[in-house]
Amino acid sequence: MKSVFITRPIPESGLALLFPHVTVTTSPKPLTPEEIAFQAEGNTAILCQLTDKIGEQVLSLPGLRVLATMSAGTDHIDLSASRRLGVTVTNTPGCLTEATAELAFALILATARRLPESDRFLRAGRFKGWDPLLLQGQTIVGKRLGIVGAGRIGQEVARMSKGFGMEVLYLSRTPKPEFEAACAARSASLDEIAATCDVVSVHTPLTPETRHLVDAAFLAKMKPTAILVNTARGPVVDEAALVDALRQKRIFAAGLDVFEEEPAVSAGLLELENVVLLPHIGSATFETRNRMATMAASNVLAVLRGEPPPNPV
Ligand code: NAP
Repeated sequence: MKSVFITRPIPESGLALLFPHVTVTTSPKPLTPEEIAFQAEGNTAILCQLTDKIGEQVLSLPGLRVLATMSAGTDHIDLSASRRLGVTVTNTPGCLTEATAELAFALILATARRLPESDRFLRAGRFKGWDPLLLQGQTIVGKRLGIVGAGRIGQEVARMSKGFGMEVLYLSRTPKPEFEAACAARSASLDEIAATCDVVSVHTPLTPETRHLVDAAFLAKMKPTAILVNTARGPVVDEAALVDALRQKRIFAAGLDVFEEEPAVSAGLLELENVVLLPHIGSATFETRNRMATMAASNVLAVLRGEPPPNPV
């Protein structure tokens, strides 16, 4: 029997496609690689999440043909081992673009206008009436936005920014003429983005080249009024350097959905008012998570039928 092991409970829409050849872990927390290898043994497919570290131990399970991750990012998977061991890897790109871009934009507005801090202020009983000097933030309309990694999500954030009349600069490895035309965007160096943008939003995958792309030197070049938003992967930003920059108010604020040592968050960040912290909810809308689950399940089914999967990595 061809069967599928699922490492975390997923939306019903995905389970229904795989029923009845499916086992879902009963563990309430993410499994260790050893636990995945033990529980998935004997299955032809594994449907995993970005919280699962997938290496040789799992990929070399006898009979395993496909590993379908319910995420766009694949930095949690040893792709060279999967190629060597002949296990097809698939992901769920595209269906989470709008949700993640929405969240990046929510972070831009929340940091610029100090929304969580204002909410905390009011709940603490400190609101004594309108005050001309109270909780001033940064205007977003008409400002310059830097997109670091102008792929699907980065481009969508740029499109959304047009509603706010923002000027768009972007960093990418390859030129994007259609994007430039659609968003009046201009390609720029990392240095120019750091030094001149009012908002920098990070959207590269995590790779050896992008680890700490936003480092102490980048942060030192940013304007004191600038905002940094990261909805990509934690290690793309040097979290210790960011804590320093925020603590010394060398930049105005940061908005983070992802962290270097997830789910741990630097103690320094937790103490600061000028950072908005979210628990990796970029794709967490009902619609998107349903689509991610059905996409991952469809990839599994295609490989088990001997067809090319819709989203090979
Ligand atoms: P994508 O379409 O592949 O876009 C990534 C972009 O990054 C590409 O345009 C690529 O440039 C660029 N890039 C890669 N390496 C670079 C480098 N060294 N320097 C400059 N640019 C570089 O991916 P996506 O769908 O937009 O997703 C981006 C990332 O967001 C994912 O990998 C994932 O880690 C993260 N994500 C997070 C959440 C969340 O819940 N917070 C949700 C979804 C995704 P080229 O086009 O030139 O190759």
